[in-house]
Amino acid sequence: MPPRFPSCKKLLLGQAPDMRRPLALMLLGQLIYLANAVLLQWGIELNLFRAGVVWTTPWMVVGPIMFYALARSGWSARLKDPSMVMAQSLYSALLTVLVYAFAHQEVRGFILCILPLIIMFGQFNLNGPQFAMFTGCTMAVLSTAMLVLSRYDEAPRGLSADLLELVYVALILGTSTSMALIGSNIRRKLVSSRMELAEALARVHALATTDELTGLANRRHMQDLLAEEAKRRRRLGQPLCIAVLDLDHFKRINDDHGHQGGDEALRHFARTAREALREIDVLARWGGEEFLLMMPATTAEQALTGLERLRQRLAEVPSPDALPGVRITCSAGVALHEAPATIEQTIDRADQALYRAKAEGRDRTSLA
Ligand code: GH3
Ligand code: MG
Ligand code: MG
Repeated sequence: MPPRFPSCKKLLLGQAPDMRRPLALMLLGQLIYLANAVLLQWGIELNLFRAGVVWTTPWMVVGPIMFYALARSGWSARLKDPSMVMAQSLYSALLTVLVYAFAHQEVRGFILCILPLIIMFGQFNLNGPQFAMFTGCTMAVLSTAMLVLSRYDEAPRGLSADLLELVYVALILGTSTSMALIGSNIRRKLVSSRMELAEALARVHALATTDELTGLANRRHMQDLLAEEAKRRRRLGQPLCIAVLDLDHFKRINDDHGHQGGDEALRHFARTAREALREIDVLARWGGEEFLLMMPATTAEQALTGLERLRQRLAEVPSPDALPGVRITCSAGVALHEAPATIEQTIDRADQALYRAKAEGRDRTSLA
């Protein structure tokens, strides 16, 4: 699909992403071509050009439209540089030198003002060697034009004047190229540091919200999620269930298999529970071997079914390699969150139900 076009504001602020920026730049370039074509007509009326210059005008329209069509249609996507900046820069430079060749001596100088403008457009894509190539080609074409003009001009201005103009052009092109390179380096560094910052932020966010051992949400993150969900529940009126789960006789696993074995049991439980639960359920490590489960849009009955599925899965999956033959079970207490209770009160009720499940013999779920 052809890229959507950016707004003028985004274009000017450089916020247009991907292929949109090249397309936006092309549009800006087209406006400059158009302005040049109009100025050229004015110059012709003022008798500042030789008659043949009118033949350059169609190329000021055809060229930019052609480049734009190639990019917009997606054809240029197969090229190494889909925005064809080098080709466009050379095209503009060639056209500029052509207009220069048709200009009378007294206005030739200001035609060359276009050249640094081309470099400004190139700064978004061209690197050092490409800039050098562009400058080299432009200088070569320009000196050829000067050589030809010196033979056919009615009153040639002399080799020294030509040389002086060439040196001026070299100076201006060299300076604009250096400036463009400095600009593009700063931009590249800015982009890379912005990416590093985004990655660091993502890392910090992960550290702040997940439990290191199990990879589940941590207590603080779960508290935020619960507060959000409680708000949503009030607005949409959907039921919300909260369950507290606790591994049974976990101390024994620790005693028999060491702290590492206990940690492996916690990881195993977290993995298995995630597989058994629905996508919208959120399980968090609440502390030690205790977990909190938030079940949005869930009735008490559905919550019991979900927890039963979890316990069944825990019974079915083989125990981890580090804990051969160990049966990991859990007890759970579940409560339906109902107005006007606070989330803390609902968690308390689930906790009491959990104590009941433990007292009744463990490996079971109790409803508050
Ligand atoms: P119950 O069935 O009544 O829950 O018995 P339990 O042994 O699971 O309960 P208890 O609360 O007596 O023991 C929990 C143990 O969990 C005590 C603590 O050393 C251990 N524990 C807490 N956090 C961790 C942890 O991060 N890793 C490991 N390996 N053990 C932990
Ligand atoms: Mg326990
Ligand atoms: Mg416990």
